[in-house]
Amino acid sequence: MSRCRCHSGKTEKRCCGPLHAGKAAPTAEALMRSRYAAYAKGMVDYVLDTTAPGPMQQDDRAAWADQVRQFSAGTRFLGLRIAEHVDGEEEAFVTFFCTLEQGGRDASFGERSRFVKVGGRWAYHSGQPA
Ligand SMILES: [Zn+2]
Repeated sequence: MSRCRCHSGKTEKRCCGPLHAGKAAPTAEALMRSRYAAYAKGMVDYVLDTTAPGPMQQDDRAAWADQVRQFSAGTRFLGLRIAEHVDGEEEAFVTFFCTLEQGGRDASFGERSRFVKVGGRWAYHSGQPA
C-alpha cells in the first residue's frame, strides 16, 4: 500500500487516487491536496485540467505543461499543511504551507488559494502569498 503523496497518512486509494482517476473532488481542500500530490507525481495533465479559466491558465498548453513538468521534476515535495479551509457553494479558499526543496535549497512557501466551481467541479483559480 503506497501512502498518498499529499502526506495525509492515508493510502493513495483512500485519498487522492480516485480524484486523479477522474472522480470530482468533494471539497476545495480535497482538490488542493490532490493537486499537490499530482505535482509530486508529475501528473501534468491533472494540474492543468484542474486549473480554472483565469490568471493561472495559459493559452499555450504545451508550454504550460513544460513549465509544470519542469517544476515537478526539479522539486522534492516534503510536506503539506492545510492551515485553513473556508468552504462555499461556488467559491472556496484554502490556506496551506508546503515544504519543498529545489536543487538542495529550501523552496517552501505558503499560499491562500482561491477555488471556484467550473462545470460543477472545483478548480484552482489563483493564489496569494500567505
Ligand atoms: Zn492525498
